Amino acid sequence: MRIRAAVATAPHTPLEIRELDLDEPREDEVQVRLVASGVCHTDAIVRDQWYPTPLPAVLGHEGAGIVERVGAGVTTVAPGDHVVLAPAACGACAHCVDGHPAYCVDFYPLNFGGSRPDGSKMFTDHDGEISSNFFGQSSFASVTNVIARNVVKVPENVPLEILGPLGCGIQTGSGAVLNVLQPGPGSSIAIFGTGAVGMAGMLAAIASGATTVIVVDIVESRLEFARELGATHAVNSRDTNPVEAIRDITGGEGVNFALDSTGVKDVFPQMLASLATRGHGALVGAAPLGTEAPFNIGTLLLTGLKLSLVVEGDSVPQLYIPKLIRMYEKGDFPFDKLIRTYEFDDINKAFEDSESGGTIKPVIIY
Ligand code: NAD
Repeated sequence: MRIRAAVATAPHTPLEIRELDLDEPREDEVQVRLVASGVCHTDAIVRDQWYPTPLPAVLGHEGAGIVERVGAGVTTVAPGDHVVLAPAACGACAHCVDGHPAYCVDFYPLNFGGSRPDGSKMFTDHDGEISSNFFGQSSFASVTNVIARNVVKVPENVPLEILGPLGCGIQTGSGAVLNVLQPGPGSSIAIFGTGAVGMAGMLAAIASGATTVIVVDIVESRLEFARELGATHAVNSRDTNPVEAIRDITGGEGVNFALDSTGVKDVFPQMLASLATRGHGALVGAAPLGTEAPFNIGTLLLTGLKLSLVVEGDSVPQLYIPKLIRMYEKGDFPFDKLIRTYEFDDINKAFEDSESGGTIKPVIIY
C-alpha cells in the first residue's frame, strides 16, 4: 500500500516527506493508521547518527493511532481499537519475563536495528529499501506495521492526539520517578533538564507528594513554565552553580532524589553532588556513545548514594500507560500541557522548535 512518511536521509539534514510502499502486516503484526506521533530528542540524535541506525530511515517512536488490520495470529487487539505504540522487546528473555522489557537483551537491535527481527524492512521507494521498525514502529508514517506485543490498547474517550508521547518521553521521565526513584510525600527532588522527559518526571514527583521540587535548566522560558506547573524552585545553571543553589534550598543537606534528563557530561556529576546522604539519583538522558563523566569515588563511597540508569521508565507499557491515563483523567498528571501540535508537513519545524527550547513536546498530526 502507498503511504506518506518522513525519511531521515543524512545527519543534520531535514527529513524528506516521501510516498513509500508499505508491505503487508505479518502474522504477529498489527497495521495501524497513525493519528499522531510525538517527536523525541532520540529521533534527532538518531537522525544525526549518535546511534548508527542505517539511513535512509523512517524514524518516529511515539505513535498513536487506530488499528486497521491484524495478522492471523493476533488476538489482543482488533480493527478500530485505539492504540499507543510502545518500544519493541522480545517478550521471551529473562528481563522481559521478569517484567522489565526496557532491558530486553535484544532492545538495541529491535529498536535501533532498522528492520524486523528477520532482517526484512517494511518500506520501499524507487531507490530500494528504507530502514523501518524504529522502536518497533517507525511512527513518522501515515500507516505502519507493528508487532502486536508492542501495542497498548487505550480508552477511546481520551484524544489520540495527546497520547503518543506516553509511549516514550513521558513514560521515561515519569517512570524513572514513579517506578524507580519513588519519592514519598514530603521528599525533595532535583530535576536536571526541563524537556518533555524532565517535565514528566517533575509532574510525577509532584503527584507523589514531593514538597521540594527543584528544576535546573539553561533555558529561562522552560524554567518559568516548570514553575507554573508546580516546581517549587527553579535554577538557571547558565548563571548559577546548581549544586550550591540546591544545597542552599535544602538547608545544606542536598536533595533526597534527583533525575538527570540532559545526557550532558558535566550535569551528571552535578546531579550526584546535589544528593543528600543516602539519596537516590537516576540518569535517563542519552549521551553520544563513548561519553565519559569522571567523578570522585573516594568521596562518593561515604555518601551511600544509590544510582539508577533507567531506560523507558523501566515500565511494562501495557500496565503503565493506562495508569498514566488514569492519573491524567483525575487531574494528577497534566502532561497534555507540555504538547504543541504540528501538521505532518511541518515536521522539520517541530524538530527545530524542540531543539531551540520553544516547544517542549512537539506532536505531529497526520
Ligand atoms: P530535550 O532536549 O527537550 O530536554 C533536555 C533539556 O536539558 C533541555 O531543556 C536543555 O535546555 C536542558 N539542558 C541542556 N544542557 C543543560 C545543562 N548543562 N544544564 C541543565 N540543563 C541542560 O529532550 P527530552 O525530549 O526531554 O529528552 C531528554 C533526554 O532523554 C534526551 O537525551 C533523550 O534522548 C533521552 N531519552 C532517554 C530515554 C531513555 O529511555 N532513557 C527515553 C527518551 C528520551
